[in-house]
Amino acid sequence: MQIETLRAQVRGIVLAAGEPGWELALETLLWNGRKPARRPAAIVRAADVEDVRHAVRYAAANGLTVSPRGAGHNWSGAAQQAGVVIDLAGLDEIRVDAAAMTAEVGPGATNRALVAALEPHGLGFPVGHCGSVPMSGYLLGGGIGWNAGRWGVACMRVESVEVVTADGALLTASAERNADLFWAARGAGPLFFGVVVGYRLRLAPAPRAIRTGVWTWPLEAHEDVAAWMQATMAWAPASVEFTAKFCAAPPPLALVSAKVVMAIATVFEDAAEAGDAILARIGAAAPAGALEAQVGLPTPIPALYDLIDAGFPRGRRMAVDAMWSDAAPSALFGAIARGVARAPDAECFGLGVVRSPLAPVPPAGAAAFSMIGPVFGALYAMWRDPSGDAAGRAWVRGVAREAAPAVKGVYVGEADLAAPGRLAQAWTPEALSRLAALRARHDPRNRFRREFAEPGCEETAAA
Ligand SMILES: Cc1cc2nc3c(=O)[nH]c(=O)nc-3n(C[C@H](O)[C@H](O)[C@H](O)COP(=O)(O)OP(=O)(O)OC[C@H]3O[C@@H](n4cnc5c(N)ncnc54)[C@H](O)[C@@H]3O)c2cc1C
Repeated sequence: MQIETLRAQVRGIVLAAGEPGWELALETLLWNGRKPARRPAAIVRAADVEDVRHAVRYAAANGLTVSPRGAGHNWSGAAQQAGVVIDLAGLDEIRVDAAAMTAEVGPGATNRALVAALEPHGLGFPVGHCGSVPMSGYLLGGGIGWNAGRWGVACMRVESVEVVTADGALLTASAERNADLFWAARGAGPLFFGVVVGYRLRLAPAPRAIRTGVWTWPLEAHEDVAAWMQATMAWAPASVEFTAKFCAAPPPLALVSAKVVMAIATVFEDAAEAGDAILARIGAAAPAGALEAQVGLPTPIPALYDLIDAGFPRGRRMAVDAMWSDAAPSALFGAIARGVARAPDAECFGLGVVRSPLAPVPPAGAAAFSMIGPVFGALYAMWRDPSGDAAGRAWVRGVAREAAPAVKGVYVGEADLAAPGRLAQAWTPEALSRLAALRARHDPRNRFRREFAEPGCEETAAA
């Protein structure tokens, strides 16, 4: 099939390699400033579901791979493949049924847009921690969002999905219909073998008072902080989300300590007094020697987005990894803290989360999302100049190697997917083999094949 035929069929925009606007389109495809060497043959900016079907059929007719793209946020550049990229950002409709407490959302709908659409109804959903991430790949990989202690992993609140399959058919998948497809759509991430063009979400009443406390110490206090966070989460209600950030000190504190560990407790309650009482109890047991404590800040989710999005500047060159652990938090946090102490760029940082033991976890076998642990850790290398690529990547891999004895698996949404063997660690062996069997059945020609190789990197992977 000629590209002109596709162009005539779709309402959206078709760009073939080399056409005017091509380089700019490629430049803005991915959120990470560091791009893979592979380049697509064409980009289709879908205006509707029929456009997606036409694009999938065009790829099949020309023997090309299909590469769905939500907002290109996957740090490993998964959405930039050598075949036809189908850009779903324009499919961003959100329809809320407040009485049924459900929402129908397009893959391009962002966390921030969903929060804004739900807010007038007093409803909520475990949206991710940054406003610009779309439902598309966020839900497909699992979705570790705000208030996960109460609401669990976001994909388990997906009631059904609309999927364009490898042969261009449009199917609905739910627990009752096309259950295999539904199982895969909740956790397969980049290994999914269709294009999700719509999600139906189960909503919940939104917490009316979200309060945050932030305590900061010199980085060397990381062991005491990890022990305190572990002890706190043993008694804290599920409304508490507790995260440590290991990073360069913000300007006023940098005079005292170049690198710091900040413990950030966010409490999702309905009454400010309840949230403040929990924060006061957490703070009362905090290790001595904090450089600063700010407790009881009102932080509705849009305010959290303003704060957090500023820490992830679009277009920065990045390398990222994210890990689950069953060990005591100090094991993973220690490796991350020591890594941050020797980071090649001041913008590099790490996160450590102690999850609530009360948080719902997906029942075994219920969904492809199958890898999770009580402790989460993530590494974010950021730098500006291409000359920093090797050091940034090596830093992430070196710290991940040091953390390995405490690591049981990775989170596919943020893992270093170019590292050999890393992708397979995102699922249990049972889930991975079921996923492989479903891929072979639903996508026999491997249209949804993914490359994760990186230029100049001796260690690469594909799936
Ligand atoms: C700043 C930032 C903050 C983040 N915060 C969080 C967080 O708080 N919690 C969390 O869980 N994750 C978080 N992530 C990770 C994020 O959820 C994943 O990287 C996710 O893949 C991003 O979605 P996307 O649609 O932009 O993915 P893309 O990069 O566009 O796509 C990645 C891959 O996913 C598949 N894919 C995407 N959409 C579809 C679709 N509709 N149908 C079929 N396949 C598809 C494709 O295989 C594609 O190659 C964050 C990422 C960034 C950059």
